[in-house]
Amino acid sequence: MPKAAFAIWWDDRLGPSLGRSYPHIELSEEDILNIFMGHGLNSEAKIGYTKIRAGLVISYMQAPTCIGILLDENDDPDVIERNLLRLVPYIDITSDSWDDEIKKAYETLVELIHETSGEEFLSKPEVKSFIQEIKNGHIKVIAPKYTLQSIQRYKIAEEFFGNDPDEVVRILQDLERENVVIPKSFGRRLECRQCGDTEVAIELHCPRCDSRDLHNVFTVFCPKCSEQFQTVIIDELTEVRCQNCHEAVKVSELSVIDVEPLCNNCGTASDEPKIVLTCATCGKKLKGADLLGGTGLAYYPSKEYFDSPH
Ligand SMILES: [Zn+2]
Ligand SMILES: [Zn+2]
Ligand SMILES: [Zn+2]
Repeated sequence: MPKAAFAIWWDDRLGPSLGRSYPHIELSEEDILNIFMGHGLNSEAKIGYTKIRAGLVISYMQAPTCIGILLDENDDPDVIERNLLRLVPYIDITSDSWDDEIKKAYETLVELIHETSGEEFLSKPEVKSFIQEIKNGHIKVIAPKYTLQSIQRYKIAEEFFGNDPDEVVRILQDLERENVVIPKSFGRRLECRQCGDTEVAIELHCPRCDSRDLHNVFTVFCPKCSEQFQTVIIDELTEVRCQNCHEAVKVSELSVIDVEPLCNNCGTASDEPKIVLTCATCGKKLKGADLLGGTGLAYYPSKEYFDSPH
């Protein structure tokens, strides 16, 4: 179990400083700075990993506050990262009693870790029935569907209302109803003309014969020897062998540097395959009119509202 949860705050005069921690820990100024800076100069990385003398710290940045978790030697960093991300919605980042808030955060994290591992996890009703469906043979594979979502983001509004894009749009619509802002057309947005959905699935086709039967030759990074090597990754592989150090590497741990598709039908190798976009919901092949047909909206201040005294 993690040793502690803590908060670091950015102060314009003092820089980053340790807020509350639970259970209580001491961190040096250097540690605090390293953890904070692990998120990039502009706090752009949400998740940071920092090795300090007391152990590994995984942190989550919601500027100007950073929530850190100090791991125990036996903790699995992947498990802690997943549960830190699950924990975030439970933390009141604007709390005015951080002693309670960070204690609650730590206890919730421990609870989340328990709930999502071991016996407690496996005996949850939804997990049990999922496993049962696999046993019955009703689920043979849990395969991904690769989708892109065309979400509208209003970055300037997110600074005030948080970064859930759907909620931000709802708030802008509330403001429209209050006559504070007026929507006007702005650019085009992606929308399937058959079903109205905005989720897109991607398919790659051979640029020469249009076949979908492509093999991909990947240039990947070996985490064991830090060298690059090339490999073909066909479906249903669990690991590949590095050509340099001959160690087996799990496919979930591979990072891909480059990909060159190779057509199984006509033998063409090309790094510019034809990219075909289809609607992830109804399967319709998307054409230019789908990609550019929907009307985007920008919200402008309502003159009526801002010219009258409030
Ligand atoms: Zn559709
Ligand atoms: Zn290697
Ligand atoms: Zn081909």
